[in-house]
Amino acid sequence: MECRVCGSLAAPLFETEVLHRHKVTYFECPTCDFVQTEYPHWLNEAYSSAFTNTDTGTLQRSLILGKSAATLLFFAFKAKARFVDYAGGYGTLTRLMRDIGFDFYSTDLYAENSMARGFDAQPGTYEVATAFECFEHFVHPRQELEKILAYSDTIFFTTQTCPKPTPAINNWWYYAPHHGQHVALYRPKTLAYLGKEYGLRYHRILNYHLFTRRPITTFVFSFLVVAGRFGLSEVVRLLMKSRTLSDAALLETNAQKDKTIT
Ligand SMILES: [Zn+2]
Repeated sequence: MECRVCGSLAAPLFETEVLHRHKVTYFECPTCDFVQTEYPHWLNEAYSSAFTNTDTGTLQRSLILGKSAATLLFFAFKAKARFVDYAGGYGTLTRLMRDIGFDFYSTDLYAENSMARGFDAQPGTYEVATAFECFEHFVHPRQELEKILAYSDTIFFTTQTCPKPTPAINNWWYYAPHHGQHVALYRPKTLAYLGKEYGLRYHRILNYHLFTRRPITTFVFSFLVVAGRFGLSEVVRLLMKSRTLSDAALLETNAQKDKTIT
């Protein structure tokens, strides 16, 4: 099979049952190290609900990732600019980031933004796009990356990198064949390759990744991600002005305007 990242010939890894009924082969690319399923024809079934029933981590993830995001965006980017959360789900992270004070918007093709209503991202240019836990869902990583790049040339994202040597299907939970949504599993080499193709620098710490054209070093990126998680985000919170109340006022004004028009 042709690797969906670099086009090389990918070699079969193993076969397993996805969604408890489809026999599916996983492949690994010898050139860019990308691990991928065969073409995922089962996705309609896998996405009957945007979040899998077993995904208990949605809220916890937003809380933790929000701390690193707030710190990185505050110290390394223009904190007063606007930001977009790509594949933002129910809008949880967008609401959290607005509560801290960032001008955040959400976009998601599959889920309704119910937490950050009124703050849907319109096409345009954003300072940074965040994309948490969505790269592993991409059938065509290059096309998806291009969609995010249409919003921003800096992407702060998370996805668990596939260990080396490649774990057997039962030895790494992130394959998650029971829900069938993780069809793309990256190595640092894969992401560096992908970034280079689009003229992006690539930085990584643990499962946090950054694509950017800006001159930020891996050290600064790593420091801000880790320090944010362990307390520096509280300092950011003190220095920013929360939008919780002003957003309520803004939404109320907009609702009044809508009433006058209709
Ligand atoms: Zn490849």
